[in-house]
Amino acid sequence: MSDSATRPFCGQSMAGAYSCPICGSGAVHLFVEIRQAPVYCNVLWATREAALAAPCGDIALGYCPVCSHVYNYAFDPSLMNYSQDYENSLHFSTRFQQYAVDLAERLIERYDLRGRDIIEIGCGKGDFLRQICQIGGNRGIGFDKSFVPDPARDGADPNVRFVVDFFGPAYADEPADLIVCRHVLEHIEDPRAFIAELRRVIGDQRSPVTYFEVPNALWTLRDLGIWDIIYEHCSYFSPASLVYLFETSGFETLDVREEFGSQFLAIEARPTSSDALQSARTRLDFDRMMRDVMAFGDNYCAKVAYWRARLGDLAKQRRRVVVWGAGSKGVTFLNIFRDQGAIEYVVDINPRKQGKYVAGSGQQVVEPAFLRLYQPDVVIVMNAIYIDEIRQMLETLGVAAAIESA
Ligand SMILES: [Zn+2]
Repeated sequence: MSDSATRPFCGQSMAGAYSCPICGSGAVHLFVEIRQAPVYCNVLWATREAALAAPCGDIALGYCPVCSHVYNYAFDPSLMNYSQDYENSLHFSTRFQQYAVDLAERLIERYDLRGRDIIEIGCGKGDFLRQICQIGGNRGIGFDKSFVPDPARDGADPNVRFVVDFFGPAYADEPADLIVCRHVLEHIEDPRAFIAELRRVIGDQRSPVTYFEVPNALWTLRDLGIWDIIYEHCSYFSPASLVYLFETSGFETLDVREEFGSQFLAIEARPTSSDALQSARTRLDFDRMMRDVMAFGDNYCAKVAYWRARLGDLAKQRRRVVVWGAGSKGVTFLNIFRDQGAIEYVVDINPRKQGKYVAGSGQQVVEPAFLRLYQPDVVIVMNAIYIDEIRQMLETLGVAAAIESA
């Protein structure tokens, strides 16, 4: 990404150029641009050639002050392919597992979901659906294009079945007391069409509770570093934009809440025949969100400018520079500065990543011991939380590099 690629966007109001996918307003304010970010951040490649040819797309985040929604106005859905290779399960984390159990128990309790029918849209590997059906003695159907049938496991609970398809009108007769959809809506190019279709499929005879969960934009903008914006997410919902979407699509809000340490946002809603905004309570978010968006945009531009200058100096002085951490942050950082040519390697302690190559920018991932030979002058640490641990490892390896935090 060159200077000319960043500057025109930062802080500019693009009145009329785009319309908000949630409320249709043309008052969109673009505040961050990232050119050619890898489409899948956490896929590493076996060869440098494959990594350099990995699919990339542009990110241009715009904020709508009318409904408080953030969206990637450069998103191109044709680049995405959620096949059965797609794996984003967080189920390996014990904290996440506990959260899912607590959520299942809470929904069962609140909506008396015992011996009922549950539909999950975008059920992934089906872990949550199995859980809520098991705990409440419910019947479940999971829909997911990336679902991989597993005869051994699928037969274990005759009350739960899976359909390798998108949920749509063909399934309008399936009974539903609860419709769950978690971490799907933020990936969908046209969320309004998606929710409108859901409302049509539900029809006017039934009144299931719908539970939708997405990342919380308030948390992303307030607490995350600037290297965490990823291509896969085209929408960043605030409580206000989530409520707006549902309440102008034939639903009434039962609850909207922050979950999982505020990282997630959940809405519980029910179909209604009225199609108007009922809830004024999320108005309070607007000022806070606007401040966070402005601060985030300024912070982003300043940080990119700083690192561009810094990496330029290091390259001029022919210093050896490595990045430590080949996760989303590292991949984003390496791609933003990939034309700088200052960084040859990225270190990661995960043996499954070592030897592979970073999508888009093409650096090889190496193990820490590699640095003993390479002797970098500077180590850029992507997540400051590990800085003491990294300093310790460098000392043990006999590497006297300066440590800088991204
Ligand atoms: Zn809007």
